[in-house]
Amino acid sequence: MSYTPAKDRYDVMKYNRCGKSGLLLPAISLGLWHNFGSVDVFENGRAMVRRAFDRGITHFDLANNYGPKPGSAEENFGRILRKDFDGYLRDELIISTKAGYLMWPGPYGEWGSRKYVMASCNQSLKRMGLEYVDIFYSHRPDPATPLEETMMALDAIVRQGKALYVGISSYSAEETRQAAIILKSLGTPCVIHQPKYSMFERWVENGLLDVLDEFGIGCIPFSPLAQGLLTDRYLKGIPEDSRAGKSWGFLKSNEITEERMRTIVALNEIAKQRNQSLAQMALAWLLKDSRITSVLIGASSVKQLDDNIDMLNNLNFTPDELNTIESVLQ
Ligand code: NDP
Repeated sequence: MSYTPAKDRYDVMKYNRCGKSGLLLPAISLGLWHNFGSVDVFENGRAMVRRAFDRGITHFDLANNYGPKPGSAEENFGRILRKDFDGYLRDELIISTKAGYLMWPGPYGEWGSRKYVMASCNQSLKRMGLEYVDIFYSHRPDPATPLEETMMALDAIVRQGKALYVGISSYSAEETRQAAIILKSLGTPCVIHQPKYSMFERWVENGLLDVLDEFGIGCIPFSPLAQGLLTDRYLKGIPEDSRAGKSWGFLKSNEITEERMRTIVALNEIAKQRNQSLAQMALAWLLKDSRITSVLIGASSVKQLDDNIDMLNNLNFTPDELNTIESVLQ
């Protein structure tokens, strides 16, 4: 059956400016790292993308290696685009992808050389069946390649019309400063940084957010729910169908320690007081900082997606709530 997007989709979402660029992003974006690969149920992924778009999520995030198998998330996303979005909605979508992690064998299949980055971009476009992506990222800093080379590759990709904007992911505060200066001098400003950031992972507060603010770069935290830890998913053990329960999931069961669970239970109680799910509170907690453009979630069902988007109903925190959360996180 053909798909007709919800008419009110732009009335029910909040859009934030990405740094000082012209680009607006939804307060919540959907990532396709897990649950969209060749090992997953295609129709489930398709239903999530449609539901996301119906609720105003215009931004979908991919990378060359998302799967498993690597590349299959981009292939499946391309299939969804052809089946449901049929070209005409392309101008309403912000699609991102990245190169940096191991994608193919040999010396040119990972990191930040011009050879790898440009070849990977071409491969991603082919897998998704796209002429261009909206944002192309360097997925991680490469300690062995000159930063200029990687940034010049990003700039070249934009000049070739294969991406509209560029971003970087997991670069430190100092690497980000250097990258931003180089990209600006090339005429292709860095518009966005994608760092790991959640209540459980706060390195960005130690310098990176200040650099992003200084250079007018947006911030889209990945794994804002700590891969599912900051939800009710593990309150009663490890479900078989959860990320920690699957052999290919990136979250390992030994990361779910008793101490961690005590913190999660305490946070869950605070969320209840706020009439929110823990997932909703964890996402709203990130968005309280105006430097955060969008939170980049993952989901394994439409129900989870809906739960997460509903965080928009309560984004405010009292000073008391913030203090209690801090004391639990200490
Ligand atoms: P999250 O921290 O949002 O974790 C998502 C997982 O949490 C889901 O798969 C689901 O787990 C669980 N979950 C989500 N919502 C709920 C809910 N409401 N109730 C209960 N459980 C819930 O993000 P991800 O780790 O998936 O990362 C998000 C995106 O960030 C990726 O898809 C990718 O685009 C990007 N990313 C970028 C990286 C980079 O290096 N730049 C690295 C990693 C991710 P379950 O499957 O168990 O149901």
